[in-house]
Amino acid sequence: MQDFVIPAAAPAAVPVAGGGRFPVRRIFCVGRNYAEHTREMGGDPDREEPFFFTKPADAVLTGDADMPYPPMTGALHHEMELVVAIGAGGAEIAEQAALGHVWGYAAGLDMTRRDLQGEAKKAGRPWDMGKGFDHAAPIGEIAPAARIGHPARGRIALTVNGAVRQGSDLSRMIWSVPEVIAYLSRYVALAPGDLIFTGTPEGVAAVGRGDVLSGEIEGVGRVRTRIHP
Ligand code: MN
Repeated sequence: MQDFVIPAAAPAAVPVAGGGRFPVRRIFCVGRNYAEHTREMGGDPDREEPFFFTKPADAVLTGDADMPYPPMTGALHHEMELVVAIGAGGAEIAEQAALGHVWGYAAGLDMTRRDLQGEAKKAGRPWDMGKGFDHAAPIGEIAPAARIGHPARGRIALTVNGAVRQGSDLSRMIWSVPEVIAYLSRYVALAPGDLIFTGTPEGVAAVGRGDVLSGEIEGVGRVRTRIHP
């Protein structure tokens, strides 16, 4: 725009399988959406409502690019997740109508500075610096729902240097994609371009410089990054 007083940043975007790019507006994430991960983080999967946090849109890291090891942490953790790409916005979306708002799906990594997140939890402070740092959202190509449908089951797995670290099934999510969209859209009006990271299964752990992370979700796609040596 002509009247911006400094140059405006280009919108963050994620490549689409088959061509084109999906412009990212915001990134929402669900906390604790698989029972075994909820337990490993000290929570009770039977009692907790879904809750949400965010990352900046420009935290997306695409094209299998290396992820720089972030500053201010000694505990960079991986969280392998199904990502929902919203194509049509809305507030107070009904669960039965929710999938009509989805443009596509991708495999993504909710990278976490676990030590900073842990300190924030103890002090009752926001998670932002544990979750919303630069390059904290490696993501693979977005597969259009028009092509792959709406996956409610299928293997979700992550290997680090070829060894399986996380392995589960989408059917084990506590809150389904339609339920997540319905809940989240009560708090904010969803908009085209929003991404929702839907939570990680158990097995989260630390990675270090040079480690290669390779994730796959059956019927959806892959995500890959190497922590820069
Ligand atoms: Mn997560």
